[in-house]
Amino acid sequence: MAELVLRNAVSAAPLRGPGAVAQPLRATVPQPLLQVDGVSLEYRTPERVVRATHRVGFDVHAAERYVLLGPSGCGKSTLLKAIAGFIPPVEGEIRLDGRRVTAPGPDRIVVFQEFDQLPPWKTVRENVMFPLLASRTLPRKEASERALHYLDKVGLSKFADVHPHQLSGGMKQRVAIARALAMQPRVLLMDEPFAALDALTRRKMQEELLALWDEVRFTLLFVTHSIEEALVVGSRIALLSPHPGRMRAEINSHAFDLHSTGGAEFQATAQRIHHLLFEEETSV
Ligand code: ADP
Ligand code: MG
Repeated sequence: MAELVLRNAVSAAPLRGPGAVAQPLRATVPQPLLQVDGVSLEYRTPERVVRATHRVGFDVHAAERYVLLGPSGCGKSTLLKAIAGFIPPVEGEIRLDGRRVTAPGPDRIVVFQEFDQLPPWKTVRENVMFPLLASRTLPRKEASERALHYLDKVGLSKFADVHPHQLSGGMKQRVAIARALAMQPRVLLMDEPFAALDALTRRKMQEELLALWDEVRFTLLFVTHSIEEALVVGSRIALLSPHPGRMRAEINSHAFDLHSTGGAEFQATAQRIHHLLFEEETSV
């Protein structure tokens, strides 16, 4: 994925906000890969309007592991769906490589929480191949080879020809991750992918995701409501307030991994995040 990083390092000075003027090219400061700029999202039903997020803004750079952390109902999934291109913002803008996101595309792939995201009538390999074929990214033979390559990366090459019902929940999530990575998206979007797993499997999956990131260096946008998971998985964390979600703070979590969970600094940061997430808005 070195190629992605190189392309991304080309700076194209975006316009920011109304009345902003185009800035000259800045060769030394790479443009963020993903820009979420003052984004408000709403659900409209005939009876009422539900505001899911209010003017949320953050930047994600190439090869970051950016986490959206906030309580249930604060709009994390809605934000991810908007970035994926399924929901248009009512306010603000989402840009990928400086271009406004207006529709879904193969450059943004989502891994969901549910284990049933794999069609059961396709084998594991066919499941991983499917988006490559459907988007005409690769012909059949190359798609099969790439599927096997990514199945190997998640430790499932032996299971390439079985059907999803023969796999555990953790294995199904590994297939979903392989399928997403095989598309080589600009950003991998994950919506609480490990939330339905038991604690031990969840920890193992976090470890594997980090090992995979170390190897492939993809750009990750990861949603969770678990403070511990955010600190372990993320390199930076956006804290979102309860419904409707607003940015509370951004936390640097580079220093933490699975081995730091018991440590004093980890616990202190977790406490600080808890306080930031749940203190009254008036005292912010
Ligand atoms: P999170 O993922 O952080 O738990 P969501 O993004 O799923 O939160 O939801 C944000 C808010 O939008 C919640 O108040 C939720 O009830 C509301 N919401 C989500 N989906 C819909 C929908 N399809 N129609 C109406 N309201 C919705
Ligand atoms: Mg959600």
